[in-house]
Formats: sequence, structure tokens, C-alpha cells
Amino acid sequence: MAIQGECPKCGKRVLHVNVEQMVGMVGGDSKARCISFSCIHCHAVLGVQLDARAKPRPRRKAASAS
Ligand SMILES: [Zn+2]
Repeated sequence: MAIQGECPKCGKRVLHVNVEQMVGMVGGDSKARCISFSCIHCHAVLGVQLDARAKPRPRRKAASAS
């Protein structure tokens, strides 16, 4: 069965999405990099998720837990 996603706002097929980088905020602090997917037709945001490619900040080696 083919998956045919439709934009909930404009009802067009979602064959492409605009991907934007954004920063997830928790209590006013930037905590994580996120990416959002928005409809290319009406720019409604379809979803946001953590950007798995980017880490919020490079952590030092976890082995040195003093
Ligand atoms: Zn749309």
C-alpha cells in the first residue's frame, strides 16, 4: 500500500518538505538542535525532531567522570 501523506493544512501531497534547523528551548535555554519539516506549498510545519546529526555541544570524554 502506497503511503500518500497529505499536508493537514493545504491538503496537497507531501512529496517534498522544507527542512529547517532550529534550536530546541527548555525554560529559555537552548538545549538541543532540532530540525523541522514544513510543507513546501503552504509552509505549515509538519513536524519537528531532534537533529540526530548535530550534538548540542561536543561533550568531553565521558570516561573522566570525577
Ligand atoms: Zn501545505
